[in-house]
Amino acid sequence: MDFTAADKLMAELEQRRHTPLEVSPSEPLYVGVDLGTAYIVVVVVNAAKEPVACAMRFAQVVKDGLVVDYSGGMRIVRELTQELEERLGRKLEKAAIAVPPGTSERDCATHRYVVEGAGYQVTALLDEPTAANSVLNVRDGAIVDIGGGTTGISVLEKGKVVYVADEPTGGTHVSLVLAGNYDITFEEAEDLKKDAARQKEILPVVRPVVEKMASIVKRHIESRNVSALYLVGGTCCLEGMEGVIEKYTGVPTFKPANPFLVTPLGIALNCRD
Ligand code: ATP
Repeated sequence: MDFTAADKLMAELEQRRHTPLEVSPSEPLYVGVDLGTAYIVVVVVNAAKEPVACAMRFAQVVKDGLVVDYSGGMRIVRELTQELEERLGRKLEKAAIAVPPGTSERDCATHRYVVEGAGYQVTALLDEPTAANSVLNVRDGAIVDIGGGTTGISVLEKGKVVYVADEPTGGTHVSLVLAGNYDITFEEAEDLKKDAARQKEILPVVRPVVEKMASIVKRHIESRNVSALYLVGGTCCLEGMEGVIEKYTGVPTFKPANPFLVTPLGIALNCRD
């Protein structure tokens, strides 16, 4: 799988987190709001589908895909939006949102109300793997999204999602294992986990959790003809993760250079007028 285009987009987005792209006073801007278990991310793109700006915050307002802190979520989306509006000198009005596949209509509505309550007009609601695939453009295979709380598997055939599953093992479990092994707090474990210089050292410690994620994937794809796995989500930033999953499942496994912001960017790319 050639991730050249996706990697270029992700590198641009990474850059725009620090230095927003200049925008004219009248050009249309499109927003993606990702309410995750670990992070709330707001991404802005322009009509040419170029990343313009991005802001995020660690937040625990969603659990297993469901909003558990409605007013907290609304406040954080509003604050991140104000921060972006100040940096861009523009008002942000339209947003797309995404939910895990299989989310009930009522829970979709709650997601929508959080973002509307923060001042947006929500113009698109999509499922997370479809959002991620707007960046990756996978035709056949499975997108494996490992975030803070869950491992999601979406099987694609001819570019369409034909099977989805979501199970509660994610980056939080990785951090808990690290906290126990190194006798440090959860927050310290989160920092240790994200320290690129130490990821080789921690992989053997967290291997059993990664294998648990791999076992979830293997179970869900067993009876399906899945030729490749594509990793997205913050937890897949762990160096060596793709090797462990490939070995366990026996299925060739690929990940873009930065799997963390693939879904939030994909959400923004699906925002329309
Ligand atoms: P979910 O998809 O479960 O709702 P989420 O959308 O908040 O959660 P992501 O934002 O994709 O999930 O990923 C968050 C997780 O990724 C957290 O557990 C975080 O610690 C982890 N993470 C972020 N960056 C890195 C990194 N560089 N290395 C390892 N883990 C990381």
